[in-house]
Amino acid sequence: MDRALGSFLGLAIGDALGATVEFMTAREIAAQYQVHQEIIGGGWLRLKPGRVTDDTAMALALGSALIASDGWNLRAIADAFVKWMRGNPVDIGNACRRGISNYISTGGLSVPPAEENGGNGAAMRNLPTVFASLASDELLVRRSLEQAHLTHNHPQSDAATVALARMTRRLLLDGERAACNQIADSLIARQPAFAFKPWPGQTSGYIVHTVQTVFDGFFSTGSFEDCLVRVVNRGGDADTAGALAGQLAGALYGVQGIPARWLKKLDPKVTTAIYLQTQKLLNLSEQ
Ligand code: MN
Ligand code: MN
Repeated sequence: MDRALGSFLGLAIGDALGATVEFMTAREIAAQYQVHQEIIGGGWLRLKPGRVTDDTAMALALGSALIASDGWNLRAIADAFVKWMRGNPVDIGNACRRGISNYISTGGLSVPPAEENGGNGAAMRNLPTVFASLASDELLVRRSLEQAHLTHNHPQSDAATVALARMTRRLLLDGERAACNQIADSLIARQPAFAFKPWPGQTSGYIVHTVQTVFDGFFSTGSFEDCLVRVVNRGGDADTAGALAGQLAGALYGVQGIPARWLKKLDPKVTTAIYLQTQKLLNLSEQ
């Protein structure tokens, strides 16, 4: 429970922290903040401090659909994404908009494979799937790909979504980083583009760049704070890289490992929703 809460709160905190510097370069961040390490809002979305963006919002939408359906229900997830998109969200990725619009017009639950679907939007929202699928790796893989394909159908997005889900599941079950090394190694053995040592230096919303930045931060630091500060100060798609780094680091270090000043700053509505959902989603896993 502590690691699951740490993971979901870590996702939201990485989102809120990173959004301030999303689409900035590392050099611009250093010039403005020296080191960006406080949740202060702002950024291109002009957020209030502690507000989250599409990353956390889509994860909460996915979680709410599973809870309302009392288990896995892909159509309910698609409907929750529609409801979220129609609620005028603060931001939305291109592939997510396309995929959700496709569902509205055709009812289709899987977009066709497409080169432009290599963004990080499927991976960033998948955490509730992990919570509801702790009992089985096989189930986790199948469900992760099903929800991914609502908007993203791309071999690198698929591989990353599955690898990040598996890493998070192992962290929640064992609380150790060793299994994560193996999962990262096997991802890179199958798809060498994901190699991240030394860090290749790119930070776009392309899933390969995001995973490289997240892995570099997660594997080269020894605390939640160091991991997130390292990742978001690289800039680029900093809120999404921050969210995924926060998901992994939170699952490893637990709520106790998250700086109190960041927990206090997070939008209280989001904190409350995360506490409520986490317990219910873990219960689904027992079924
Ligand atoms: Mn975002
Ligand atoms: Mn982003």
